[in-house]
Amino acid sequence: MKIPIFKLKFSNSEIRDFQSKVSQALKSDSISNGGFTKKFENEFAKINKSKYSIACSSGTAALQIAFEAINIKNFEVIVPTNTFFGTAIPVLKAGGKVVLCDNDFNSPEVSFLDIKRKVTKNTKAVCIVHVGGWIHKDILKIKRFCKRKNIYLVEDAAHAHFASQNKIFSGNFGDIGCFSFFPTKVMTTGEGGMIVTKNKKLYKKMLSLKNFGRSSNPLILSEIGMNFKISEFNSCLGLIELKRVKSRIKKRKKISELYQRKLLKKKFKVLINKNSNSSHYKCIVSSEIPYAKIKNNLKRYKIALTGKVWEVPLHKQKIFLKSKINLNSDFSNADEFSKKHFCPPNYPELSFSEVERICKILNNT
Ligand SMILES: *Cc1c(COP(=O)(O)O)cnc(C)c1O
Repeated sequence: MKIPIFKLKFSNSEIRDFQSKVSQALKSDSISNGGFTKKFENEFAKINKSKYSIACSSGTAALQIAFEAINIKNFEVIVPTNTFFGTAIPVLKAGGKVVLCDNDFNSPEVSFLDIKRKVTKNTKAVCIVHVGGWIHKDILKIKRFCKRKNIYLVEDAAHAHFASQNKIFSGNFGDIGCFSFFPTKVMTTGEGGMIVTKNKKLYKKMLSLKNFGRSSNPLILSEIGMNFKISEFNSCLGLIELKRVKSRIKKRKKISELYQRKLLKKKFKVLINKNSNSSHYKCIVSSEIPYAKIKNNLKRYKIALTGKVWEVPLHKQKIFLKSKINLNSDFSNADEFSKKHFCPPNYPELSFSEVERICKILNNT
């Protein structure tokens, strides 16, 4: 039996619920950025205990709006090298300079020590990624540090919907939090993103940046923005997803715990952060066994691993040679970690018996 890289199922009643919302939208004269989008924003903010929320067209768009709002043009932004390129592109598009930082040793998380080392007079923001759905273990220290230095803290929470630490939800630690609703993520709208903030001024500016940069007079621009709005159909799906996301996170958690119990400790270490309530987007396993061997062995049984976090750290992207990025710093922890981990499938559509089968095969690698 094949276990693919990704599955996404909706029940018949969820599909009917979606169709009925879509029919309502189609009869409403407003099929972009209307009532369903407002409702989706409000319900997301309510669950996440966020003050303001803005739905937009992707996680990458959310980050671009965030960086434009805090005006990083010609300033430096600290970004982990161990992230998806969707974290760095928005910094460059907003006219900022990316300053990459290394991981902690044997960890997917960016090193706070390296952040402190790389902050300069020109640093405008630090961007933290909650890799795999765990809140960064040093987030409170990083938050205090940014405050002291008068630097913005932006959270790339693309993996970390409704994750929390000390009852604070992901996206609410920093000045701005950005989420992704790409289909493989914790919840989806097809394509889409969400921005959260508690700062009214930033909220107003980001609302404008998402909508071309319009001022209160829609004929007059106050910013050079973009069109990052979403259709009502995306928001209809978002509302369906919000109803089931908590139970899907629970299932991800159970799958991760099963991996933890069943994988042989002397071969595999399931990485966890006991101080954080993860979204369990990824189950991250570190191992000394070569990745190709693990991958090929599973492939013989038609089992696909999900994407690593990450296989190609940003400092390895040759295209960035054209940008002013510090590709030549020491990234040895990131290089090492990229080779020594893998992510077994843990989407909610998996059955526990499938997970046990994957463990058995891994244990025999
Ligand atoms: C998915 C992802 C993004 C980008 O989100 P999109 O909705 O695909 O644009 C950004 N950062 C991280 C860490 C991601 O995993």
